[in-house]
Amino acid sequence: METYDLIVIGAGPGGYPAARRAALLGKRTAVIERRQLGGTCLNRGCIPTKSLLHVSGQLREMKQAAAFGICCEQPSLQPDTFWRYKDSVVEELQGGISQLLKKSGVSVYGGSGCILEPGLVEVTGENGERERIQGTHILIATGSVPAIPPIPGIDQPGVITSDQVLDGNALGGKDGLPYDRLVIIGGGVIGMEFASVYGNLGSQVTVIEAADRVLPGMDREFSQSLKVLLKKRGIGLHVSARVTEIVKTEDGLLCRYEEKGIPGEVCGDGVLVAVGRRPELSGLLSPELEQSLAAERGYLSVDAQFQTSIPGIYAVGDVIGGIQLAHVAEAEGRRAVEAMFGVPDSETLSVIPSCVYTEPEIASVGMTPEEAKMAGIAVKTGKYLMSANGKSVLTRQERGFIRLVAEADGGRILGAQLMCARATDLIETLAVAITAKLTAADLAKTIAAHPTFGEGIREAARVLQET
Ligand code: NAD
Repeated sequence: METYDLIVIGAGPGGYPAARRAALLGKRTAVIERRQLGGTCLNRGCIPTKSLLHVSGQLREMKQAAAFGICCEQPSLQPDTFWRYKDSVVEELQGGISQLLKKSGVSVYGGSGCILEPGLVEVTGENGERERIQGTHILIATGSVPAIPPIPGIDQPGVITSDQVLDGNALGGKDGLPYDRLVIIGGGVIGMEFASVYGNLGSQVTVIEAADRVLPGMDREFSQSLKVLLKKRGIGLHVSARVTEIVKTEDGLLCRYEEKGIPGEVCGDGVLVAVGRRPELSGLLSPELEQSLAAERGYLSVDAQFQTSIPGIYAVGDVIGGIQLAHVAEAEGRRAVEAMFGVPDSETLSVIPSCVYTEPEIASVGMTPEEAKMAGIAVKTGKYLMSANGKSVLTRQERGFIRLVAEADGGRILGAQLMCARATDLIETLAVAITAKLTAADLAKTIAAHPTFGEGIREAARVLQET
C-alpha cells in the first residue's frame, strides 16, 4: 500500500495549493480528485463566471460605443464561440495546476476519496476500481455545492443553479442564447453577478431576495448604490421577499412570492437559484467517522490549526463554512499544512478582501464603519466620489466611491469599501495597507500615477486626514 505524509481530498483552491506546499516542504503528498483539477473555482465558479462577465460586459460596452464615436453594427453573442473561449481558459488553467503538481512531485489520484479511518483512505476510480492508501495526515478540501431551498416546484426543468449554466455551457434560452426572462432567487454575490451577466446580454431579469437589501452581508452603501443601478438598467428587484412556489404555466415558470407579507408573482423562462452553498461531504466518510466527526449545521468543526475533532484529520475551505471564498480556502490550506508539519505561518488570515464583479465592481477589506462601531472602536472615515476622478470621467464610469476607515486616534487604516471600476484590483493596495498597519498619512503621501482609478485611494486618504 502506498504511504504518504499527507493525503489531500479535493483539488480545488483549498486542496491543490496545500498539496503543493506540503510537497515543497519535502513531504510525500497525494491529492485525490473525482472531477477536474481546480474545483468549483476553476470549473463552475470564479473563472467561468468572470469569463461570462468579461464577455457580457464587452457586449454592453460595444452597444454603448457610439458615445465614443465608434460604430459597430448590431453586436451580438455567438454562444458556441463564447463557450469555446471559456473552455479554453479553463483548460489552460487546469493544465497549469497539473504542471505545478507534477513539478512539485505530488501524486494525483483520479477518483473519489473515502476516509475509512484516521490514516486510511480508499480511492474509487471512475471504472469502479478501488485502491487504499495511507497518510499520516489527511486534509479534507471537498468544497461545497449549491444549496436548494425547500420551495414547492423547485425541482422542475428550467430551475437551475450556477452549476448548470457554467458546467453545462448553456445560458438556458433558445439556440444557446440566454433566457428572455430570468428570475433569480437570492440577491447575494452569485445573484448579483448573474443579474449583471444576463442583464448585459439583454435578458429581462428579476431578483427576489429574502433580506431587506441585496448583498446583505456587505456594507449598506453597496446595497443602496446597487439598487439604484439595477433599477436604471431595468432589472426588477424585490427585497424582504420569499418565493413560496414555482409553477409551470403556458407562459413559463411562474414564481409566486410574498414581499413584506403581500403576495406577488413574476414569470420567467428560467429560474436561477442562488441562495448560498452547502458543504460537500458525499461519500467522504465511513459510517463510523460520519458519526464521530464533529460538525455544526453540516460544516466540519476545526480548531485554529484547521484540525477536526479527530487528530490527524484536517479540513479547510467551504466545507468548514465561514467565508466561502477561493482565496480564503487557499490560505487556510497552506496554514493547515504549515501547522501539521510545525512550520511557521507564512501568511495572515485576518485581512481578507472580498469582491463582487458587478459593474461597477465592489470590493471590501477590513472593517466597515458599522462594524467598527459595533466593536467599540472610534473611527473616522474618508470618502471620495469617483465622479471627480479623471480616469472614471474619461471612461464614462457609473457613480462610484472609495471609502477608507481609520482609527480616530493615530489614523491607522482598519478597512476600505470600494465601488468603482477596477475595485477588485485596487482593493489589494488597501489589504497591504491594513496588513502593514499603514496610516492614512502613509497613503496620502504616496504619489499615485495620473490618470488612474488608484488616485481615488490617495484622495480618500486626504479627505480622511482633513476630517
Ligand atoms: P450568498 O450567501 O452570497 O447569497 C445568498 C442570498 O440568498 C442571501 O442574500 C440570502 O439572504 C438569500 N436567500 C437565502 N434564502 C433565500 C430564499 N429562500 N429566497 C430568497 N432569497 C434567499 O450566496 P451565493 O450568492 O449563493 O454564493 C455562494 C457563496 O459563493 C458565497 O459564500 C459567496 O461569497 C461565494 N461567491 C463568491 C464570489 C466572489 O467572490 N466574487 C462569487 C460567487 C460566489
